[in-house]
Amino acid sequence: MILSRTSFSLLAFAAVISCTAVPPQAAPSLALQPSANLPSPETANETGADVEKGRSDFWLAREPVQGSAIIARAPAGATAIFLNGKAIPLTPDGFFLIGFDRDAENSASLVASMADGRRIEQYVPVKPGNWQIQHVNANPLGGAKTTAEFQARRGPELARINAARAKQVVSDGWRQDFAWPLQGRISGRFGSQRIYNGTPGSYHSGLDIAMPTGTPFVAPADGVVVLAAKDAFTLEGHLLMIDHGMGLNSAFLHCSELLVEEGQAVRKGQVIGKVGATGRVSGPHLHWGMKWNAARVDPLALLHK
Ligand SMILES: [Zn+2]
Repeated sequence: MILSRTSFSLLAFAAVISCTAVPPQAAPSLALQPSANLPSPETANETGADVEKGRSDFWLAREPVQGSAIIARAPAGATAIFLNGKAIPLTPDGFFLIGFDRDAENSASLVASMADGRRIEQYVPVKPGNWQIQHVNANPLGGAKTTAEFQARRGPELARINAARAKQVVSDGWRQDFAWPLQGRISGRFGSQRIYNGTPGSYHSGLDIAMPTGTPFVAPADGVVVLAAKDAFTLEGHLLMIDHGMGLNSAFLHCSELLVEEGQAVRKGQVIGKVGATGRVSGPHLHWGMKWNAARVDPLALLHK
């Protein structure tokens, strides 16, 4: 099968290379331009009908950045989509969701299998994130008193978290503009390198919003509750996980109270829990983490700007 988008792929690669030499704002975002602006000699010469139909390229709502999830639309007539070789669910109206981990490679491949047997491939540059360093004074064992207690409790907790992530729910929450779960001071950003009591730990995987214990927070988008830890976990404390569909989910950590049950459908704006200081914390705050499948993404990247 001949790649019909060879010329475009090369242009996108050129954009990737130039990104390293110029500030991100000045970098050309060829991958995000409507297809009409892109040279596509093969398409024009060999399949002129395609041009008339329009929409022969991928469309992305935002520029891909490490640690972000982005709504995208497939070329018209696509029957299957692959990100870096992995199949991605596609809605009947041609939309899908892709996400990039905090440490994602600086270029990603999108492939569409077309109803007429063609294969459209597009490379998109993934901009680097801007990560901070943050010092944290908190007990590394969180809610556990001894290492032995931590080890005994941690396995079953991780099993529950993994089981919750494995659940497949139907929700259109992923298509909504995400709302802030509550207003407050941002006390920790996604991606920052954490130093716990002087020892480097893993990077911070969510957004921290500092507010007093008992402050209610709401669902940022529609979804289904896949985990409500009424017994506090060692690190996460009372943990609430909401699946928004298409592999996208939110986790709310350190809550003082959870106001919803596992399996319950929640609506955007509905009060679902209260801020607390349970688990591994240095003070009361809401930690909001998001994942798209295995990739950790920044909630800030999904909030309407
Ligand atoms: Zn946090």
